[in-house]
Amino acid sequence: MVFSMEEVMEMDHLERKKRTAAIRPNKKEKRWPNSTVTYEMEYGSFNPRDAHEITKAMNEISHYTCLQFKQDLGAENRVFLQRGYGGCYSRVGMVGGVQGLGLDIGCRYKQIIIHELLHAIGIHHEQTRPDRDDYVTIRFDRIYSHSVYNFRKHDEDYLNTFRLPYDYSSVMHYGKKAFSANGESTIIPKYPGFEDVIGTNPGLSLYDIRTLNNMYDCVPDSCNITDADCGRHGFVGKDCKCWCHGDSRHNPVEYCFEEDRKELGTLNYTYDCRDWRSDCAEYVEQGYCKKSRVWMMFFCEKSCKMC
Ligand SMILES: [Zn+2]
Repeated sequence: MVFSMEEVMEMDHLERKKRTAAIRPNKKEKRWPNSTVTYEMEYGSFNPRDAHEITKAMNEISHYTCLQFKQDLGAENRVFLQRGYGGCYSRVGMVGGVQGLGLDIGCRYKQIIIHELLHAIGIHHEQTRPDRDDYVTIRFDRIYSHSVYNFRKHDEDYLNTFRLPYDYSSVMHYGKKAFSANGESTIIPKYPGFEDVIGTNPGLSLYDIRTLNNMYDCVPDSCNITDADCGRHGFVGKDCKCWCHGDSRHNPVEYCFEEDRKELGTLNYTYDCRDWRSDCAEYVEQGYCKKSRVWMMFFCEKSCKMC
C-alpha cells in the first residue's frame, strides 16, 4: 500500500506523551550534539531501493544544512530506522537512548523520509505553529475524533518558529486532506492557491533550511555578512554566501548573486535518479505519471521526470 502525504498516519501520540513529561524538544539539550544524528537501520527490513531513498533523504538534508548522519550501532543515543507497523512516525528531537523511527512500506520515499528525519532532528508540524490560525483553517468537524490531537496548536515556548514566516511549502506541513473522516479537506489555507501546495513539497523548502540553520547554528559566527546583506528573502547559508529562492520545488535555494553562481556553480542537490521497474515506459505511455503520481514516484521517478 502506498500512502500519499495526506494519508500518512503518524503516531504523534508519542509526541503528546512527551509534552506532559515536560520535555521540551526545541531546547538545546534535545538537539543532536555536533549536529550529527547517529542512527541504526533495522537488519533485513529495507531493500536496496528503500536504502537508496533513505540515503537520498539524508544527503539532501546534509547538502543544504550542517546536519550530518552517522551510522553507529553503538551510540548511546540513536535513531533506530525500523520497519514501522502501519505508519510513518518519529519522536521529535533527540529523546535519549534508542528512538524508533518507523517507515512502513508506503513511507519509503524521499519526501516522507525527510519529514520523519526532521522530526527526529527536532522539528514539529508546520500547521501546529502558534500562528497557524492566521494561515489555515482547521476543519475539526471533518477530522476523526481520535486524530484531533494531531492538529493541536503549540505555543512559542514549545515550538520555536525562529521568527520565520509560516511556510505552506514546508515538508513538515500536512496535506489538505490529512486525517479526513469524510474525504473532504481538513486544512484550508486562508490564502487561495495554496491548497495543492501544502503537503506536496518533494523535499526541504527554503524555510525548512533556515529553520534547521537556526536550530543547529549552522551558519558560522565568522561569516562577515548578515541576512540583511542578502536582499528581501535571502539569507546567509552555511557557506557564508547569500542564498535565495531557487527556481523550482526541486531546487529550493540558489545563490543570490551572479558572481557566486559563476564561481561556485549551483546549490542544486542532485542524486542518482532511477527507475526501479523495467516496465516504467509502458506506464508512462498510459498516463500513470499523473493518474498514480505517488505510486509512480515510488517506482518510476526517472521516467516520470520527477527528479
Ligand atoms: Zn509528521
